[in-house]
Amino acid sequence: MIDFHTHTPAWETSTWLGGAAFGADEFVAFMDSAGIEQAVVLSHDGLFDPTPESNDALAEFVHKYPNRLTGFGTVAVRRKTAVQEAERMVGELGLRGLKLHPWLQGFSMHERVLDPICEVITSVGGVLLSHDGTPPYSTAGQIAALARRHPKLRVVLGHGGLHDLWRESLAMTQETENLYLCLCGTPPYAARRILAEAPPHKVLFGTDAGLSDKASQDYAVARVKEIDGWGITDAQRQAMLIDNPRRLLEKP
Ligand SMILES: [Zn+2]
Repeated sequence: MIDFHTHTPAWETSTWLGGAAFGADEFVAFMDSAGIEQAVVLSHDGLFDPTPESNDALAEFVHKYPNRLTGFGTVAVRRKTAVQEAERMVGELGLRGLKLHPWLQGFSMHERVLDPICEVITSVGGVLLSHDGTPPYSTAGQIAALARRHPKLRVVLGHGGLHDLWRESLAMTQETENLYLCLCGTPPYAARRILAEAPPHKVLFGTDAGLSDKASQDYAVARVKEIDGWGITDAQRQAMLIDNPRRLLEKP
């Protein structure tokens, strides 16, 4: 399976999420134990402090296992060097997408500073994955509005709306051509409805592995097991865990 939402440890920031120190070797050993062949890895430090150094550290982590790990970097969107950093990240650093966290990074998806950054990601056939599900920032409607301004950019709702906004995330995924949805931390009752109603080619799965302390790896294993309780068909499983993420990670 391909896990579309995992994190590095926090090397430079102290956050309430805690965090254990682990390297790429340990992470890939965890993936093996959980049956995860490939993972999209996002920076933990970059959520709180989106610096070029956070992209460097992420690139170093994923490049140890280029066939197993794919990195999505991040940028401080209002910084004047944001476009330049987006170019460096997908160029020189070989990262394949952009992760944005409008809530923690403190901006709205409606801000026009995002447009040239999105153009950089679109130009290399990359993917934008945004945190979603926590109002006031990070609602699916706001993320869908950005996706509609950039119809060639593939945009992923990183959490399927979580507890509060999963209905909106489902509706926006149905209504917006280039918007996809990752079931990651989405409650089971919502996951079942999303699987039943969302376009099957648009659903992805993620564990958020790596985000917090050691328990989060156990938690990630629990999330993989939870899939069985979603009333999922073999075809949906194949699409969500293999075909859809593979298609998104290929250049269009
Ligand atoms: Zn996450």
